Amino acid sequence: MLTHRNANIALFVILGTLLLVQYQWHSIPWWLFVLLPLPYVSLVAWGACTIESNFFMPVVCAADTTEKVVAITFDDGPQLKHTPQILDILQQQQVPAAFFCIGKNIPDNEVLLQRIHEDGHVIGNHSYSHHFWFDMFGAKQMLAELKSVDDTVENVIGKRPRLFRPPYGVTNPNLRRAVQRGKYIPVGWNIRSLDTIAKQPEEVLQRITPFIKPGAVILLHDSMEVTLQALPALIAHIRKEGYRIERIDKLLNIPAYA
Ligand SMILES: [Zn+2]
Repeated sequence: MLTHRNANIALFVILGTLLLVQYQWHSIPWWLFVLLPLPYVSLVAWGACTIESNFFMPVVCAADTTEKVVAITFDDGPQLKHTPQILDILQQQQVPAAFFCIGKNIPDNEVLLQRIHEDGHVIGNHSYSHHFWFDMFGAKQMLAELKSVDDTVENVIGKRPRLFRPPYGVTNPNLRRAVQRGKYIPVGWNIRSLDTIAKQPEEVLQRITPFIKPGAVILLHDSMEVTLQALPALIAHIRKEGYRIERIDKLLNIPAYA
């Protein structure tokens, strides 16, 4: 399996072999030693940015099923601008979803968080700050952030989230350590709507509907107007294709709370 550990072993073996050959026969051109790290660095960058790669840590991104069932997930809330209307649509359509909340959005939005919970949706952890440099933090700082989200959520709904979605979908060794220490279950997606850059709801739909398959996990953002606009048509399309929408913890058969 292509993991960070295996890539390190491969790099070590290749470098060792080259050094041995160089020592024996002096036949390796110097530029090979300069170029060798490039594919390694590209591989590590790909692994960090591709949540489905499981390169740094196992992340559940879809269910292994042949049943026509999918899960809808929203990141980056709760916030007053669009989350209430998204909840209204989900309520009307009787769709259960997951909300991976940013901790700093919760103060002043406790009522909204409570509603997410009472409406039957699951609340996940999406870091406290969602800081642009979150991936540069040490494991200790990451874990402190995750725990402060749990504390904040627990103060409102009385439960501590176990599902964690990495900010920006980026993983690295520090995050792996934080997740292991905090006993979180990292959850990704296998359909990325790119709704944060879409201009029209049709664009969001076009990026999702061709990829719907059994066990899929769809990534949306309740911070986006375009997502709100696309949601009714998305739910209708999923159902027209004969799919059921299931809450992510049930779809993946994992515990949502500690
Ligand atoms: Zn996010």
